[in-house]
Amino acid sequence: MKVAIIGAGSSGLTAAIRLEAYGIKPDIFERKSRVGDVFNHVAGLLNIIYRPIKDPLDYIKNNFDINIVPLNVINKVVMHGPTVTRTINSRRIGYYVIKGQDVASAENQLYEKLKTNINFNVHADYKKLKSEYDYVLIATGNQQIPKEVGCWQNFVETRLKIAEVIGKFDPTSLIMWLNTAYCKSGYVYLAPFDDKRAVLVLIVPYVTREEVAKYWNNFLRIEKINMDIVNIYDYEHISGNCFPHRFENLYFIGNAGGAIEPFLGFGQFASIMSGALAAKSIATGSDFEKEMLQLSNQNINMLELRKAIDTMDNDKYDRLIKILSAPLIKQLVYDTNFNVIKHSSIFTKYAANEIFYKPFKKLE
Ligand SMILES: Cc1cc2nc3c(=O)[nH]c(=O)nc-3n(C[C@H](O)[C@H](O)[C@H](O)COP(=O)(O)OP(=O)(O)OC[C@H]3O[C@@H](n4cnc5c(N)ncnc54)[C@H](O)[C@@H]3O)c2cc1C
Repeated sequence: MKVAIIGAGSSGLTAAIRLEAYGIKPDIFERKSRVGDVFNHVAGLLNIIYRPIKDPLDYIKNNFDINIVPLNVINKVVMHGPTVTRTINSRRIGYYVIKGQDVASAENQLYEKLKTNINFNVHADYKKLKSEYDYVLIATGNQQIPKEVGCWQNFVETRLKIAEVIGKFDPTSLIMWLNTAYCKSGYVYLAPFDDKRAVLVLIVPYVTREEVAKYWNNFLRIEKINMDIVNIYDYEHISGNCFPHRFENLYFIGNAGGAIEPFLGFGQFASIMSGALAAKSIATGSDFEKEMLQLSNQNINMLELRKAIDTMDNDKYDRLIKILSAPLIKQLVYDTNFNVIKHSSIFTKYAANEIFYKPFKKLE
């Protein structure tokens, strides 16, 4: 069986490792000269997002025999609203993984597990490969090809400012800021590499590339940020629905398969999962759309959250932060396996003052 993989990011590398495990040696094409995003950054995996799965890294290890060593465990989240700040401490809120060309990055960890050589510096043409191979996995990190063949619907376009900053940090903490004045219905987060270096990322939906600088400056000014910025990059995320995930002999995985969810812009877990599931489908003949159902449903749940957040103003952000950090809610959300995303409308409707105001008010 001849299988080609276009793109050696998280999804393409995972698919390749799993195809090898099934005894299939794929041809892998990567346009860059090495694996990993061009700049190093820190990605968060928050356990509450993946429920009913308890722990995303354990899940990947137990089900697909792929062990990703995290940079750190997250055990503290500090949420800054427009006027309130709340801190959540819990034993294992999630993980940090390094992304990029660092030797410990998720991509390099996957690359190390691979036996097949990668064809670097090759910009692959999917139309050509489609006729030469039995299957072609589109793991290109963007929606271009699924869009071209009519399998893509855009959800949200988001602009990012990613700054590498120097300061003093707690490597197990995630700090988040919410304020419509500088991120509209997006957010800002700080994720440390270690106790001296971190990434500070602004994520703003529904703005043009030119407008992002204004939001970034507003953030620095309003939050009085005076860390040393040593590098800064612009980026964009497009979340959307890929359907079907298979078109003739093309399989869409990772961001090309809709891995970037529309609420927080997370896509690391779904990229790895979709790569593993595509390999399973090719090797065993299972229905890829059925394999992807849980991830697709998760995307739709996240879209509902996105719609709710889009209607909120600063008062509502403050209320949302208060409810998410109220003792009983905190226990339910972080210390049990309660499916927060599925039932998230309870919290967003509360914040929007639609339901349960009085009882929750007592908990704040
Ligand atoms: C700044 C930033 C912060 C993020 N933070 C988080 C986070 O906190 N949590 C989280 O879960 N996710 C996060 N993500 C998202 C997550 O990193 C991605 O969803 C995931 O890495 C996508 O993997 P992929 O395999 O689809 O694509 P990529 O990793 O982008 O890989 C695609 C590869 O395909 C190659 N390629 C493209 N076209 C061709 C071609 N024609 N021929 C050959 N090669 C080609 C590219 O060079 C690239 O190497 C973040 C992403 C960014 C950029």
